[in-house]
Amino acid sequence: MSVSDKTVVITGAGSKRGIGRATAHTLAAAGWNVAILDLDEASAKDAAHEVAERNRVQAVGVGCDITDEASVENALTVLDGALPPVGALVNNAGITSPTPFLEVSGEEWDRIFAVNVRGAFNVTRRLAPGMAERGFGRIVFLSSVSAERGGGVFGGVAYSAAKAAELGFTRALARELGPHGITVNAVAPGLIDTDITGGALEGERKAELVAGIPVGRNGRVADVADLITYLCREETGYVTGATYDVNGGSHIH
Ligand code: NAD
Repeated sequence: MSVSDKTVVITGAGSKRGIGRATAHTLAAAGWNVAILDLDEASAKDAAHEVAERNRVQAVGVGCDITDEASVENALTVLDGALPPVGALVNNAGITSPTPFLEVSGEEWDRIFAVNVRGAFNVTRRLAPGMAERGFGRIVFLSSVSAERGGGVFGGVAYSAAKAAELGFTRALARELGPHGITVNAVAPGLIDTDITGGALEGERKAELVAGIPVGRNGRVADVADLITYLCREETGYVTGATYDVNGGSHIH
């Protein structure tokens, strides 16, 4: 089977050392054409250029604020016709914050939910009908170990709650879209070496966290990218509504 006639949309894949960009490369290496939506337009275009150059696929990068429905509509309209039909979506864009619950404001709470949950809704709601019409789709959500174990890594209550919302979203959507040939799964990474904490998780706290990881290291973006690529395969059609841990054993349940 081949995915060369299909496109995967990956949100938040601009970030240079991020999970999204690594995933764009592994999916492109598997034959997918790639569309990257990122708040940072320059990084989205840079990532698309890099992906097209290293792999023989088409890639387009578009600036897009996924929290804004009009921005999502504009970005996806640019893709229509420029790339083959969308066969997969990776809801990767996300933000975190360590603010303790006793200090968090309603605005900050809303911002965390706006990107992680509403943003994923905006893009998924726009792309799922086409997938259903064509009878094929793969949707992957980036949740977090924070959702499963109640924080304890970096993110606070708002982040853990938003990432847990993505698990409910995944499961209910899997049930609804299964009859249309669409699988919906979540991955729950542990501590992965990226820039999401803006360097705030270093030194002693990081060493402490790594000491609690059975495989003895923090995760790499490739660890997560490989798993997402597996879940997007055409052959992986009987796995849906599942949450895949990729955390080095830091949370076993
Ligand atoms: P990152 O900060 O490297 O990348 C996130 C990307 O999302 C950035 O390119 C950013 O510009 C983009 N983005 C932010 N807000 C956006 C918006 N409104 N619209 C469009 N794009 C937007 O992050 P990462 O570490 O690669 O994380 C990717 C995903 O994995 C996130 O959902 C995160 O919550 C999840 N995750 C990360 C870790 C980790 O340890 N790094 C662990 C568990 C889960």
